[in-house]
This record gives sequence, structure tokens and C-alpha cells, in this order.
Amino acid sequence: MRCPYCGTEDTKVVDTTHDVRGGVRRRRECLKCRQRFSTYERAVLSSPAEADGMVLFGSVDWVLYAVDSTSGWVIWRFRTGHSIVSSPAIAEGVVVFGSADGRIYAADLRSSRERWRFETEDQVTGTPLIHKGLVYCGSVDGYLYCLELASGRLRWKFKSGGPITGAPAANETSVFFGSSDHTIYALSANV
Ligand SMILES: [Zn+2]
Repeated sequence: MRCPYCGTEDTKVVDTTHDVRGGVRRRRECLKCRQRFSTYERAVLSSPAEADGMVLFGSVDWVLYAVDSTSGWVIWRFRTGHSIVSSPAIAEGVVVFGSADGRIYAADLRSSRERWRFETEDQVTGTPLIHKGLVYCGSVDGYLYCLELASGRLRWKFKSGGPITGAPAANETSVFFGSSDHTIYALSANV
């Protein structure tokens, strides 16, 4: 673990504690300059997305992070009401992602300002697809939702027989997704 004071990689852990969200806090000491610093380690189950020199990913600590692609420094954080295992989708300067708090969020890529949020009936662990100005996103409630990227307004929803935890795909005419009901669906994109 790199020392933030002198940059050396030689550090040792002097204390470890666990927090309520399943994370680990480690107190570390640099073996070169002897400065002490803390690291907060929480699981990242979300796949990262890269855009505009930033890497975005969700964490089980309820936060979506945007870090500098070169330095790894945190540029902004966006806090939700539960774990984020959903991977972010990015288009037109907006990042869209789901949270286990049941919502689909859209935030401004540059400022992290919330554009909109959409409430589903259960956890959103799948990854949204942004396609032609629309957001397609499944939920554990069994629905595939089609929302307007600009406003978050619901265009339509389709009920499958089980939780949807994957990412949809689309072409010019159809949107495709899998459900825990053992089925792959193809829907007309313009329902
Ligand atoms: Zn040091």
C-alpha cells in the first residue's frame, strides 16, 4: 500500500477494525517516513466504466465512485441508500446505475449532480443499457423498465417471471434480456 506522504510501497498494518457495512479499516505505518494513515477497504462487485478520464464503479459501501483514470484519486462520490453492485452505464454526459435501495439513478458525469431517480419494487443489481436516448434496466422485482434518459420518465415496463440481474442488449428494433425465470426475452424496442 503506497504511503500518501512519501510514496514508498513499504508500509505495515498496525491496526484492523471492521465497520457495519462489511468494510475493513486498516491503520498503516510507512516503514520509510514513519507517517501513519488509514485505508478503508470495501468490496467492489460492480464492473467499472471509463469515460472522460474517469473510472466509475459502485461499491457495497453504498457509494458510486468516480476516480481519475491516471492517478486513482477520487473526483466525486454519489451516495445511495444501499449497496451498489450494479455497473454504471454512461452516455451523453450522464451516468446511470442501480442500487440495492431499489432505485435507478442518473447523475451528471462531470458534477455528480443527480438528474433523476426512479423507484422500482426491489433491489436493482443489474446493469442498465443506454440506447437511443432510452434506459433499459432490470430489477429484482422482475420488471424490465424502459425510461427516458433525459427525464427518467417511464416509457414502459415488462414483467418477467423472476428477478432480472443482468444487463440488456439492443439492436435497431429489439431489446434483449435474461431473467431468473430461465428465459431470454426479445421485446420490440418501441413498445
Ligand atoms: Zn512514507
